[in-house]
Amino acid sequence: MTAWDQGKILISGAGVVGLLLAQSLKKLNIPYEIFDRDESISARGQGWGITIHWALNDMLSMLPEDLIKSVYDAQVYENFHENDNGNFIYINGSNGIPVVNIPPAPRLRVRREELRVILSTGIDVNWGCQTINIETDDDATDINKRVTVTCKNGKVFQGGILMGIEGSKSVTRSITNPTNHELQYLPIRFIGGTIELSEDEYRKMATTFSPLLFQGTIPQTESFFWYSLLATPKYTKNGTYKSQIMMSWKNNPDEPFDTPEEKYASIKIHSKGLDPRLQYMIDYLDKSTGSFMELQLADWPICDWNDFNNKILLMGDACHAMTMYRGEACNHGIADVKLFTNLCESLLNGKIDWNAVVGKYKTSIKDRCSEAVLLSRQACIDAHDW
Ligand SMILES: Cc1cc2nc3c(=O)[nH]c(=O)nc-3n(C[C@H](O)[C@H](O)[C@H](O)COP(=O)(O)OP(=O)(O)OC[C@H]3O[C@@H](n4cnc5c(N)ncnc54)[C@H](O)[C@@H]3O)c2cc1C
Repeated sequence: MTAWDQGKILISGAGVVGLLLAQSLKKLNIPYEIFDRDESISARGQGWGITIHWALNDMLSMLPEDLIKSVYDAQVYENFHENDNGNFIYINGSNGIPVVNIPPAPRLRVRREELRVILSTGIDVNWGCQTINIETDDDATDINKRVTVTCKNGKVFQGGILMGIEGSKSVTRSITNPTNHELQYLPIRFIGGTIELSEDEYRKMATTFSPLLFQGTIPQTESFFWYSLLATPKYTKNGTYKSQIMMSWKNNPDEPFDTPEEKYASIKIHSKGLDPRLQYMIDYLDKSTGSFMELQLADWPICDWNDFNNKILLMGDACHAMTMYRGEACNHGIADVKLFTNLCESLLNGKIDWNAVVGKYKTSIKDRCSEAVLLSRQACIDAHDW
C-alpha cells in the first residue's frame, strides 16, 4: 500500500451518507474532517424509518464490528431480521388486497436518526458549521490548501478534496452546477404524521397487512397511502406502537392548504374510500397542533457536476435526489460510499491514479443514478394513477 497523497478529505454534511463515509475513511486511515450545519446530532428530531435492502452488505462491510451490532439494534421492530420473510406489499387501498407482492430480500428497517447517531460513534463532527462558500486553488503548493470551505459561523476548513453530502438541497451542488442545480418539483402533495397504535390495533394491522410497512393506492381518489412502523413498546415505553402514516395525491393548487384545519380537511377528502381497517388511523393524526410531516417532492436526475479539476465530488441525495416511492435513495447513498472507498483502496494499492478515481466515480454515479431517479419519479406518478 502507498501513502495517501491527496490531502485531507473535507466532508460537508453529516447525514447517514456523510457519516458512513467518515467511518469508511477512518477504517482506511485516510484523513478527513466532517462538519454539519445542525447544532447537534439530535437537532432534527425523530425523522422516519428507512429500509436498507440491496446495499445492506455494502453498509455492514464498511463498519467496525461493534457498530454492526448497534445497527441491528436500531431496527424499528427489535430483532425483526431473525424472522423476516422480507415481503413488501402494495395494496388496493380500498380493500387491502395486495396488487404487488415484492419477493423477499434481506433488509433492515431502521430509525434513520438512530442510525445516524450510531454512525457518528467515534467520529468527531464539527456541528453548527454550515457551508456557505467554497473556493478551489489549482496552484496551491500545499495540497491541503486546494479547497477552502467557509461556514456561516466563520469557521474555515481546508483540505485536498471536498465531498458535498448536504442532502437534496446541497449547497456544494449549487456551486458545481450554477445553471442546473435546482431540484425538479413534482405536482404531488405529500403529507402525514406520527400516530400511536395500541397493542390490539397494531396486531390486527400487522397480521392483515404487514408488520413493518406497506403502501397502496385508493382507486376512487387515486391517492397514495403509506403505513410504516417506527417503534414498538420496548422503545416507546408507553405500551404503544409508534407509526407513521403518509398520504399523497395530485396537487390541486386551488385547494385550501394553509392552516392545520385545512390540511387535515384535505387529508380527509383524499383518504375517502380507504379501507376502514386503515381509515381510523387518519383520525389519529394530530389535527389540533397541525404537526404534520409535509415534504415537497422533487428530484435531480442530472447526476453530473463540475468537479473543479478533480477536487469536488457529490454523494448521496446531493447528487441523486429522488422521491421515496421506491425506497432506495439511501441505498444508493451507501453504494456511493462503497464505490468511492473501493476506488480509494485501488489508489492506495497503486492500481489507479486520482484522475481515474474521479472519472470512474462520476461515470458510475451517472450510469447508476440517473435512471434510478427517473424510475422513482415514475413510481411516484404511477402511485397516483390507478
Ligand atoms: C419519508 C422518507 C422515507 C424514506 N425511506 C427510505 C427507505 O426506506 N430507503 C432508502 O434507501 N431511502 C429512503 N429515504 C431516503 C433517505 O432518507 C435519504 O436518501 C438519506 O437520508 C440521504 O442521506 P444524505 O446523507 O445524503 O442526506 P441527508 O440525510 O439530507 O443529510 C444531509 C446533511 O447535510 C447537512 N447540511 C445541509 N446543508 C448543509 C450545509 N450547507 N453545510 C453543512 N451541512 C449541511 C444536514 O444538516 C444533514 O445533516 C426516505 C426518505 C423519506 C423522505
